[in-house]
Amino acid sequence: MKTTKLKCVKCSKIQPLHNSYFCSFCGSILKVDYDYLPDKKSFEKILLSNERSLWKYKDMLPVKNESNIISLGEGFTPLVPLKNILPDIELYGKAEYLNPTASFKDRPSSVGISVAKEQGATTVAVASSGNAGVSVAAYAAKEKMRCIVCIPKNTSIGKVSQLLAYGAEVNFVNGGYSDCFNLVSQLCEKFGYANLTSTYINPYTVEGDKTVAYELYEQFQEVPDWIIVPIGTGPLLAGVWRGFNELKEMGIIQKLPRMVGVQAKNCSPIAQAYKENREVHSALDWSETLAGGIADQLVGYEQDGDYTNYLINKSGGDFVILSEDEILDIWKKLPLVEGIFAEPTGACSVGAAKKLFDDGIIKKDDSVVSLITGHGLKAPDLVEKFMNDINIPTVSKIDDFNNTK
Ligand SMILES: *Cc1c(COP(=O)(O)O)cnc(C)c1O
Ligand SMILES: [Zn+2]
Repeated sequence: MKTTKLKCVKCSKIQPLHNSYFCSFCGSILKVDYDYLPDKKSFEKILLSNERSLWKYKDMLPVKNESNIISLGEGFTPLVPLKNILPDIELYGKAEYLNPTASFKDRPSSVGISVAKEQGATTVAVASSGNAGVSVAAYAAKEKMRCIVCIPKNTSIGKVSQLLAYGAEVNFVNGGYSDCFNLVSQLCEKFGYANLTSTYINPYTVEGDKTVAYELYEQFQEVPDWIIVPIGTGPLLAGVWRGFNELKEMGIIQKLPRMVGVQAKNCSPIAQAYKENREVHSALDWSETLAGGIADQLVGYEQDGDYTNYLINKSGGDFVILSEDEILDIWKKLPLVEGIFAEPTGACSVGAAKKLFDDGIIKKDDSVVSLITGHGLKAPDLVEKFMNDINIPTVSKIDDFNNTK
């Protein structure tokens, strides 16, 4: 599947592969456009390969020369049946927290940084709520690239410690994700650094997210009715949707899943616009949320949210808004009843499945995949804050045990 060009998602104008980030005609979002897709036979051959990373699907990814691939073994995450939390539906969690840096961001990072290498980059920069920065930092370390990261000042200590361990140049920014986004955009423009921010700004990173769809097809052997995705800007959802559409084009599958987005009420510019059936406005009235990984205000790139809503509508999907209480509830319940310790953002996709079932939108026996996007160990500060009412005894002899239960 050769790639020689980019295509604007709005005006459809074709332009050459390059490292600038917007349509040169209308300023909209660019996506990688392939000359051809493998046919059904070639795809089935790809499935037989023993490669245990998302690079198994390299024929459908935008790296021309294999020697440019930078990999830490990302992808190939388990699909875990969640039987206890919602027994009325056929629910699965895609364990994206098991990626090399403990979030799904390793998919877009691995593909994005490999293309950046191919285009000659030696310095990469990334705006992040934490996970994207952590992920790019790991791949940059492996390739000895310089890595500049801008994150909000209140980012969880788990993510900050990962960044420091990987040797990234960390910068705290006063404000929210959007402030980081706009600073990194200016920095990349001024110094020519490769921008690996994982919104739609870099057309190559989204391609990494596609591989979730291929894996789900392999693991599920059919197409789930619903796929639920936590949304900051929306590239993960867009990537998964794109992957399933490619499978359909290749004649591998017939139906497509309904795509569901989830945002936290405290910062939900895309979900609010979806509910009111209007264009997205940036969230100037946002406040902090437990789901920090999806708190994107979209200041200056509101059109990204419109593209996400366009895709959700096209899929016949839906958008769920969760309150802080609902996020806290599902985040605490998931490890207790399913043995899955996610960061609060990652648990939102399961919380949304519950809400859609309670509202009668997801029906009994529907098949549902919730993408559990990040690991609970990234947020030890939140654990301390919300679980410190548990009294842990200190024991030294057998009589110290509390055996009254
Ligand atoms: C980045 C992130 C998301 C949201 O992904 P986008 O596709 O960038 O909107 C979801 N969950 C976690 C844990 C993340 O870090
Ligand atoms: Zn355009």
